Amino acid sequence: MAKDMREPIESGCPDPWQYMHPTMRKNFGQRKYHDHPRPGVLRHVAYSGDEIWTVRAGTQRILDVFTLRKLCDIGDEFADGYVHFTLRSNIEYMVTEESRVDPLINALEEAGFIVGGTQNSVAMISHTQGWLHCDIPGTDASGVVKSMMDELIDEFRNANMPNRVHLTTSCCQINCGGQGDIAINIQHTKPPKINHDLVANVCERPSVVARCPVAAIRPAMVNGKPSLEVDERKCIC
Ligand code: SF4
Ligand code: SF4
Repeated sequence: MAKDMREPIESGCPDPWQYMHPTMRKNFGQRKYHDHPRPGVLRHVAYSGDEIWTVRAGTQRILDVFTLRKLCDIGDEFADGYVHFTLRSNIEYMVTEESRVDPLINALEEAGFIVGGTQNSVAMISHTQGWLHCDIPGTDASGVVKSMMDELIDEFRNANMPNRVHLTTSCCQINCGGQGDIAINIQHTKPPKINHDLVANVCERPSVVARCPVAAIRPAMVNGKPSLEVDERKCIC
């Protein structure tokens, strides 16, 4: 792992060189070719003759610290301690010998991770932040990703598609999660129902009122308590 950390600066992304596998640093810009020995594995060969074997596993994107530690422990024990997250939240481990690829794959699969997502597979679905960060989603795109990937798991593990397939899900038309070949927009199709017992205690009513693009949500007093009401004729769901 990188030992010499530079002083933090206030803006900009961190210097990536310190986190790059030393063999990749050494051969930067000198790649001769790469191939795809099996789903989930890439081999890059440099003009110097050096090889880097990359093993890719899917993650759930929104990672808890325990899962991250587990992934890092696997990287320390079965790889060289360097990892890379792809744009679609896969984790990649780099090793320099072919003989270390199978033990690494076995360790990942024993820990419950799925190896795949390369070449003509259905890549990991990129999804928006949903309830974790955003204050406008009516549904949580990440929950839908879980159920979709349960169905598509074998297409992630294999590379049977005519081309690489990128899917995205989002919980409004802003689609902050990125682009894909197929974009799935997950939204309610009926006006919201209001639980008047809870609104006064848990809801920032002015924010909710301000969020509706057609002013269908209004403040209201219900049973003597401050609440909200929805004008269903205006709601565009
Ligand atoms: S897609 Fe829309 S609702 Fe979902 S997280 Fe992004 S901005 Fe928020
Ligand atoms: S139109 Fe307004 S009330 Fe209807 S779902 Fe959208 S934000 Fe909610």
